[in-house]
Amino acid sequence: MHTLRIFLAVWMLSLINPALALTLKPQRVAPGVYALVGEVDGRTYDNEGMNATTGFVVTTAGVVVIDSGSSYRVGKQIHDAIRHVTQQPVKYVINTGGQDHRWLGNSYFVTLGVPIIGHEKMRADAEERGVMQIQSLQGELKEKLDGTRVVLPTQTFATRHRLRLGTTDFELIFTAPAHTPGDILVWLPQTRTVFSGDIVFADRLLGVWPFSNVAGWIASFDALAALKPEHIVPGHGGVCDLAQARRETRDYLALLRDHMKRAIDAGEDLQTALATLDQSAYSNLANFDLLSGGNASRAYLEAEAAAF
Ligand SMILES: [Zn+2]
Repeated sequence: MHTLRIFLAVWMLSLINPALALTLKPQRVAPGVYALVGEVDGRTYDNEGMNATTGFVVTTAGVVVIDSGSSYRVGKQIHDAIRHVTQQPVKYVINTGGQDHRWLGNSYFVTLGVPIIGHEKMRADAEERGVMQIQSLQGELKEKLDGTRVVLPTQTFATRHRLRLGTTDFELIFTAPAHTPGDILVWLPQTRTVFSGDIVFADRLLGVWPFSNVAGWIASFDALAALKPEHIVPGHGGVCDLAQARRETRDYLALLRDHMKRAIDAGEDLQTALATLDQSAYSNLANFDLLSGGNASRAYLEAEAAAF
């Protein structure tokens, strides 16, 4: 009887909190610096579109959220995760790029009345694609998308933006359009930690999309490398070091760029350029089968456009 009661209690609890639901567990990266590491595969109802890595920084004067998540609900869950670490209030939200999971949670954080900071190109990108991003999440997320709307950054900048909260320094650095047009780095010099947003993908293959720029992405990565970070909180995948980030992001982008430039210089058409590209060194990364073909085509088109 006792066992049955426990079974029933666990079963009822599972109705309220299904085992497959999104869990955001803060992972300590450095003093005061936390990552929220999401899944590396696609956007699903269970992961609430949060197939990305974000985080937050606890200072002596409040919390800075770095990327607000894929929906109103996820934004609220990020705040709940923060409350497991500190009772300090959220003082700023930073959006590191224009992809859905970087900023749609602004619709929650705006209810706290905090400033939201992003690059001016990120703001324009979000304004242009926001409604479409919400519509394309609708099919998977259904009612979990309730409350999500386009809420743009309230503060923008063009190249660099410095921020000091309590005794913690933040440098927001824009180099060039990368995975999305307004991708930035958030550099914490005191702990030598960088939140890279979608400038670094770890553990999974990155995606080159029509709004991406391979050459600018490599330049943005090089700006990150020049910081000599000790800890990288990537846009996707687990917290990593520079060697892993270089291997799984820069080296792959350089392979695409160099191969396609050579192909264009040799007058090869798209078909030939695709057929002679060997991406197998990256086939161990998640999403390889899904993304490698499209990445190659888009890199060719970019190289072709650059040649004229
Ligand atoms: Zn992303």
